[in-house]
Amino acid sequence: RIAVFGSVNMDLVAYVATAPGSGQTVTGTEFRQVPGGKGANQAIAAARAGGDVTFLGAVGDDAFGTQLRSTLVESGIEVSGLRTEAGASGVAHIVVEGDGSNSIIVIPGANGRVATVGEHDVQRIAGSAALLLQLELPLPAVTAAARAGREVGVPTVLTPAPVQELPDELLDEVDLMVANQHEAAAIAGGSDPLRALDSLLERVPEVVITLGADGAVHGRRGADPVRVPARPVAAVDTTAAGDTFCGALAVARAEGQPAEAALRFASEAAALSVQRHGASLSMPERAEIDNARKR
Ligand code: ADP
Repeated sequence: RIAVFGSVNMDLVAYVATAPGSGQTVTGTEFRQVPGGKGANQAIAAARAGGDVTFLGAVGDDAFGTQLRSTLVESGIEVSGLRTEAGASGVAHIVVEGDGSNSIIVIPGANGRVATVGEHDVQRIAGSAALLLQLELPLPAVTAAARAGREVGVPTVLTPAPVQELPDELLDEVDLMVANQHEAAAIAGGSDPLRALDSLLERVPEVVITLGADGAVHGRRGADPVRVPARPVAAVDTTAAGDTFCGALAVARAEGQPAEAALRFASEAAALSVQRHGASLSMPERAEIDNARKR
């Protein structure tokens, strides 16, 4: 089983030629409401990739909360650790312009009210093959979860997004960091991915840096880095490519696949997702990943 302790949001996406300036009203072309949040995205990616997933987090007691809970349940995710908190669910207000650029306002809602991990959460984490963490819940809660994971012997996987200063208190409890090149550069300083890998390995024992269309690189203390290329595909929407990669990677590792095979599995899943629109809607099922790998 894979445990995810993280955020869940309703993404409210407005498509418009040019985003309005302050005081302006413009007419857009389309509106979509899509479940999101990095925690939920990683959970859905892992479940679609064939993982047995339990989700720990919080929604509000509003209509979005009900819809978000149903989405997770319909994805086959175990939600006994998903709390319903009084007040609003997390929302991401996204404006996508004609050239594909976007601007996003995240209102954490119930995610922001997750203060720590409870005994009930620790029971769900115990016995899992991995605990997936991101930084869209309050840092003290993420740190408490990582510590709890360590205490019950479950490897913790951290995606350091949205990128921020990371205290040693948290990094000391992390077994694997999965970062994109921007996050890796921001944390390690400098822009060369192999250098960033080395510098991150001084803080955590194992690191994967994703490099967009250039694939991904894996490093472990005391071993040579392994680089896996991305499949050349026509990308139409790379939103949540990293979350798809991370969820699929966790599944492959939980199955005991060796590092390079797990990386290839994750790359294949991410390459499938970027060829379709919609973050969580675009994530591939296990059969698709297996078929693509045979090609
Ligand atoms: P993020 O989504 O966090 O910004 P990346 O852009 O590094 O992360 O993408 C994560 C993974 O998704 C990459 O390692 C790669 O496997 C896959 N991917 C992303 N963009 C493409 C692309 N244009 N073509 C093929 N695979 C891609």
